[in-house]
Amino acid sequence: MPDTLRNPLWFDPATCLIGGEWTAPASGATLDLVNPSDGSVICQIARGGAEDIDAAVKAAQAAREGEWGAMTALERGRILSKIGQKVLEKTEELAALEAMDVGKPLTQARADVIALARYCEFYSGAADKIHGETIPFMDGYTVYTLREPHGVTGHIVPWNYPMQIIGRSVGAALTMGNACVLKPAEEACLTALAFAHIALEAGLPAGALNVVPGLGAEAGAALSSHPGIHHISFTGSVATGALIQGAAAKNVIPVTLELGGKSPQLVFDDADLDAALPFLVNAGVQNAGQTCSASSRILVQRGVYDEVVKRMAEAYSKLTVGPAAEDLRLGPLISARQKELVSGFIEKGSDLTLAAEGVIVDGTPTTGAYVKPTLFADVPADHELAQKEIFGPVQVIIPFDTEAEALAIANGTEFGLVASVWSRDGARQMRLAKKLHAGQVFLNNYGAAGGAELPFGGVGKSGHGREKGFEALYGFSQLKTVAAFHG
Ligand code: NAD
Repeated sequence: MPDTLRNPLWFDPATCLIGGEWTAPASGATLDLVNPSDGSVICQIARGGAEDIDAAVKAAQAAREGEWGAMTALERGRILSKIGQKVLEKTEELAALEAMDVGKPLTQARADVIALARYCEFYSGAADKIHGETIPFMDGYTVYTLREPHGVTGHIVPWNYPMQIIGRSVGAALTMGNACVLKPAEEACLTALAFAHIALEAGLPAGALNVVPGLGAEAGAALSSHPGIHHISFTGSVATGALIQGAAAKNVIPVTLELGGKSPQLVFDDADLDAALPFLVNAGVQNAGQTCSASSRILVQRGVYDEVVKRMAEAYSKLTVGPAAEDLRLGPLISARQKELVSGFIEKGSDLTLAAEGVIVDGTPTTGAYVKPTLFADVPADHELAQKEIFGPVQVIIPFDTEAEALAIANGTEFGLVASVWSRDGARQMRLAKKLHAGQVFLNNYGAAGGAELPFGGVGKSGHGREKGFEALYGFSQLKTVAAFHG
């Protein structure tokens, strides 16, 4: 076991960051933070509430009116660049925290650290490249636009990719000069706290980033309904997203929602199967399937159907599952509750063809939240397992005959986050890229390695608004039009 994993806590985890000060929550209450690899309690974290959120929003407002609000785009960019550097310097420490807290195999946890640093790098360079325009108008006028921050932005993030989601959301909001209040998930908040420590060390002014851990129904609800925030971004479940949009509507503020999906990969008879196979499997089991853009539906044309089922089944039977520190292909799920939820879905597949399962390795603690990765074949497109987001390592394979049928199946859920097409036919690629109901379409790949540069978000119940890339910077800012009459 690496040394960083033995004692990864280098800060007090039972605190909130408000106005640059690390303090216990006003109530003094704490929550147990559980290690999903073995069910043990790692430490206590702060159970922040409405009073802490209120103080955090006020601190953010003060930062906007103070040093942070006065900084130029170039200065903000330089701070983000330093944060990114420091994140990279602490790769092993951050990966160890995430592995323990989320149950991620170390390789995946390290990749998440690199992604967090990458968002800081991308946005640090973008900070002074976003600007308004001049608009040709009537004689006697000069008209231009100013791109301005919203003010105070709220960020409610889930437990599955804390570092990546903080990078893309808080990173973009800070770039535009917003002051942020971050509510990490109660199941996994250690890297949010660590990130805030690093950001302060890198010179981020007090109050520009405030962090209040706590329960969704308490700290989360207090943040999303607070009249002092001017924008809220949320990643998580559809049900909670709808609550957040309702709260935002009462305060008439914009909201970005990223709510997961049931993303398909379409494999045609002319596909390069050797290239496709690793993506077909990995996109379903990465992070134990707890990925908003997981590909949980594999649609395969009849000519290669048996071959794809056989090769995916072979790959599944070699998938190993165990504690995060073992660094196998899959770690545990986030919690006993998530294990119960995912196991319930797997039981609902008892009427389906079980193509293959992975292996929970010997010696894995029975107190951890483990499930076997499970592959079902010949699944009807309207089966519950082919329609609902499972958020676990479960994939269904669905056969199809024609391109039209594949498209209808692919578009036949309430979600629309990501889709991919595996085919050598360029015309088909172009047709499907236009017609697929998704916020991102990949041609002969899946996910494009995460791509901080690539706008990301959904249609339908997958949510609305775009994160990542320059598009996120437009979302975290608003446009003011100035019309000067000078005759
Ligand atoms: P959730 O949506 O309830 O939680 C996500 C975040 O929202 C957490 O920080 C939580 O504290 C907060 N939250 C919860 N209730 C809130 C409320 N009333 N007001 C404000 N904030 C609130 O998700 P969950 O319960 O952790 O997981 C349930 C299911 O959600 C999963 O099985 C999965 O299907 C889905 N999920 C999706 C994603 C994604 O990346 N799209 C991430 C996590 C979970």
